[in-house]
Amino acid sequence: MAALESSKRVGTAVVSKLYPTRSHTGAAQGGIAAALANLEDDSWENHAYDTIKGGDFLVDQTAAEVLCREAVECIYDLEHMGLPFDRTADGRISQRRFGGHSKPNPKYDPTAPPGTDNARPRVPVQRACHAADRTGHMILQTLYQQCIKQGVTFFDEFHMLDLIMVDGECRGIVALEIATSELHVFHAKNVLIATGGFGRMFKVSSNAYALTGDGPAIAYRHGLPLEDMEFYQFHPTGIYRLGILLSEACRGDGGIMFNDKGERFMEKYAPNLKDLASRDVCSRSIYQEVRAGRGIGGKDFVYLDIRADTINKYKTSPTGKPVDSAWVESRLPDIIDFARTYLGVDPIHEPMPIQPTAHYAMGGIPTNVHGQVLRDAEGTIVAGLYSAGESACVSVHGANRLGTNSLVDLVVYGRRAGRAMARDALEREFQPIPPHPEAPTRTAIDALLSRPRTEPWAKLRDAMQVTMMDNCGVYRTAETLTKARDDIADLKRRYQHLGIQDKGTVFNTGLLEVLEFGCLLDLAEATVAAALSRRESRGGHSREDFPNRDDANFFKHSLAYSYGENQTSVVYKDVDVIMVEKDGQRVPKYPLEVRKY
Ligand SMILES: Cc1cc2nc3c(=O)[nH]c(=O)nc-3n(C[C@H](O)[C@H](O)[C@H](O)COP(=O)(O)OP(=O)(O)OC[C@H]3O[C@@H](n4cnc5c(N)ncnc54)[C@H](O)[C@@H]3O)c2cc1C
Repeated sequence: MAALESSKRVGTAVVSKLYPTRSHTGAAQGGIAAALANLEDDSWENHAYDTIKGGDFLVDQTAAEVLCREAVECIYDLEHMGLPFDRTADGRISQRRFGGHSKPNPKYDPTAPPGTDNARPRVPVQRACHAADRTGHMILQTLYQQCIKQGVTFFDEFHMLDLIMVDGECRGIVALEIATSELHVFHAKNVLIATGGFGRMFKVSSNAYALTGDGPAIAYRHGLPLEDMEFYQFHPTGIYRLGILLSEACRGDGGIMFNDKGERFMEKYAPNLKDLASRDVCSRSIYQEVRAGRGIGGKDFVYLDIRADTINKYKTSPTGKPVDSAWVESRLPDIIDFARTYLGVDPIHEPMPIQPTAHYAMGGIPTNVHGQVLRDAEGTIVAGLYSAGESACVSVHGANRLGTNSLVDLVVYGRRAGRAMARDALEREFQPIPPHPEAPTRTAIDALLSRPRTEPWAKLRDAMQVTMMDNCGVYRTAETLTKARDDIADLKRRYQHLGIQDKGTVFNTGLLEVLEFGCLLDLAEATVAAALSRRESRGGHSREDFPNRDDANFFKHSLAYSYGENQTSVVYKDVDVIMVEKDGQRVPKYPLEVRKY
C-alpha cells in the first residue's frame, strides 16, 4: 500500500526476501475491520472505543481515531481496485463478527436481571469485511497487481541485511540477492521498513517461517528503540501442537470453545461477550481451564466446535437464524480444509483440538501517524526512515490487538506513510552515502562462512523458542523472565561462535536462516527486558506476580534500547490521550475503565 501510494509521485522500489505474494498477509483469514454499517448500525467512534479498550487503554488515541476513520475510505479504495469481497444479499460488502468488536446494546437496561440479553451494555457487531476466509490473500494479490500496473520496481528474493545510517539519518539499505549471495547497495531518499512480525521467536506460532523480525532487529542494532515489546499476542485457537491458526472468524460465525466437561467455559470468564471476548482474555481462560485439569482428557488443549448443530443449540448464529453445514462450509472453507489436512478432523462433524499460539507483535519500531520512525520518548524523527505494518508500532493496538485490526492498520498507515515519503522525497535532494556501506555486512558474512561447522544452529534456535514460550509466554513472573533473560544471553554468546556447513553462494538458505535467527535473538532480548521492567498485568502481558493493571505507575509505553553486548535499557513515554471539554472542564475522551467483556 505504501509503495502504491508513493509510486504515484516518485520512483519507488520494493525489496522483498520472499516473492511478494508469499508474504504472511496472504495467510490472513478472517477479515479487515471498518465500520461500514452494511448489516447493522455502527460508527467509526464505536470502532475507536473498542480498539482503545481492546488495547487495555495503552493505545495512542489520536492514532486509533485516524485508523478507524480512514478505515472506511481505505476499504472502498480496495473495493475499487477490484478486491473480491463477499457480498450481502443487496450487493454491499459483507461483514462478520470478531472478538472485542461491539456497539452499545440498544435494549440495554441496567435494572435487567444479570445474564439476560438486556443486561449487556454492549453487544457484538458485524464489522469485519471479508472475502470468505482468505481476506489477506485477496488484499495482497490486489495490491501487488496494482503496484505492477503502476510501475513499482520489485527486487524479489533480495534479503535486507542492513540500513545505511549516516549522521543519524537513513539513506538506503544493504541487501543480499538470494540466488547469488551478491550484496547490493540501495541508495534512497526514504526507506520504509515493512518486514512484518516475529512470531518465530516462540515454539508454537501461527506465523510463517519467514517472520523473523529482520527490520526491527536491524533498527535496534543501530541504536533505535523498540516500543512495547512486552506485549505479544497469543491467539487462543491454534491447531493443537502445530500452532496453525484457526481464525477467530470461527467464533465470529458462532463457534464455541468447550472444556473436558463439555462446559462453555467462556461464560464464566467473559459473561458479556463470551467466546467473542478479546484474544488475551480467551487465551488466559484456556490456560486456567488446563491448569484446573479441565483440558480435554486432562491434557493441555480444549475444543473449538463449529458444527451447525452446536451453533443452533447455543443460538450463536450471527444472523439469529439457524444455520446448516453448507453455510458453515461456505463461510470457512480454508479453515475446514486445514483441520481436515493437518488434524485429520472433520469440523463439520467433530470439534477441533486447539491451544493458544504465538500470533502477533503489538510492539515494534515506534512511529508517528505519518509512519516516520521516532528515536526517543520526546518523538524526535529519524530522517529518511519509515515503518508500517506489523514491524511498526504507531500504537493503535496498545497492549492487545483486536482481530481484523492488523490488516486495516497496514492499509491505513501504509497509505499514510507512502504519501508522506513521496511528499518528502519531492522536497529533498539525495544525500551522499559513504563508499562501501556494505563492508560491515560483508565482514560479518565472511566471518560466519569462514568458521568451521559447530553445534547445529537449529538446536540453539529451538532453545530460544522453548524458553520464550515457557518463560515469556501467556503468563510470566520475575522468576521465569529472569530465566528467559539468562537463557537468551547465553544463546547470544554461543551465537557469536556459530559456523555452518553450506559455504556456497547459490541459495545459501542456511546462511540466511542463521542471520534471521540472530535477529530473533535480539528481539527476544528486547522483549524480555521490557517484560521484566513492566511490573503490572495489562492486555497481552500477564505477570502472575503483579496480577493487576497499575495505571499509576505503568500507564505508559516502554522503549527498549540496546547498548553494548547484552546490555539493554528500558525507558517510558506517555500515552497520547485525547482531552475534551465537558461541563466546562477538560476531561479525557476515553476515561480509563476496568476492562471487562
Ligand atoms: C495465520 C494468520 C492469520 C491472520 N489473520 C488476520 C486477519 O484475519 N485479520 C487481520 O487483521 N490480521 C490477521 N493476521 C495478522 C496480519 O495478517 C499481519 O499482522 C499482517 O499481514 C502483517 O503484514 P505486513 O505487511 O506487516 O508483513 P507481511 O505480510 O508479513 O510481509 C512482510 C514482508 O517483508 C519482507 N521481508 C521481511 N524481512 C525481510 C528482509 N530482511 N529483507 C527483505 N524483505 C523482507 C517479506 O518478504 C514480506 O514481503 C493474521 C496473521 C496470521 C499469521
